[in-house]
Amino acid sequence: MTDSIEALGFIDMHCHSDSGDASLCVRSLDVSELAGCGLPPMGMPGCGRFFSIGIYPWFIERQAVDVALAVLAECCQDERVLAVGECGLDKCISTVFDVQLAVFARQVALSERIGKPLVIHCVRAFNELQQLRKTLSPTQVWIVHGFSGHRVLAEQLVKQGFYLSFGKALLQGGDKIAETLRATPPDRWFLETDEAAGLQIGAVYQAAAKIAGLDSRALQERIYDNFKRVFRYD
Ligand SMILES: [Zn+2]
Repeated sequence: MTDSIEALGFIDMHCHSDSGDASLCVRSLDVSELAGCGLPPMGMPGCGRFFSIGIYPWFIERQAVDVALAVLAECCQDERVLAVGECGLDKCISTVFDVQLAVFARQVALSERIGKPLVIHCVRAFNELQQLRKTLSPTQVWIVHGFSGHRVLAEQLVKQGFYLSFGKALLQGGDKIAETLRATPPDRWFLETDEAAGLQIGAVYQAAAKIAGLDSRALQERIYDNFKRVFRYD
C-alpha cells in the first residue's frame, strides 16, 4: 500500500471534463475533437492530467476512418495519453455494426502495437465483445467503462480478464449494481464520472465505499494500486 498524495485523493478513470475534485483524471477525447495532434495544454480548466483518445462509435461517421486512425496512432505517442479509447460497440446507434466491429478491431491492434490499455464503450454487444477478446487474445488490459450490467455478466468479464469502471449507476442506489460491484474483485475496479453533469468523483467513491463496506481511505488505496498497475504509473 502506498501513502503518496495521489493515493489520498480521487482518481477519475474516465471523464469528458474535469469534475473538479479528482487528484488524477483520464479525460476521454474522440479524435474528431482534436486539431491535428494538439492535446489541450496541461493545467487549463476542464483539462485532465491524462488522456485516452479513440474513435468513439457514435462519431465514426463524422470522420474519414483511415485519417482518424493515423492521427490517433500519432497522438498516442504522447506520454500523457494513457490508453486508447473510448472505442467499442453500440447496438443502439445507426452506424452499421460491421463497420463498428472493423473500427474497433483496428483500435485493438493499435493498443497492442503501442502497449497501452483499451477503454471500451459497450452497449448491448457484450457477446460480441467477449467473442472478440477470445479471438484476438490481446495482451493489453481492456477496461469496460460505465459498467452497470448484471452480476453474472460482470463475473464472465472478470474471468476473461476485463477491468470494470463504475460510475453514476452506483449513486442510483439499486440492488442490481450493488450486487455487481460486490461480485467484482476490487483489484478489477475503477471509478469514473464519464459525462454526468455536475457529478463529482468523490460522490462516486462514497457510494462505492458504502456498497462495498470499505472505508474511504482503503478504497482510495485500492483504486490507486489498480491505476498504477494498469497504466504503469508511478
Ligand atoms: Zn465516456
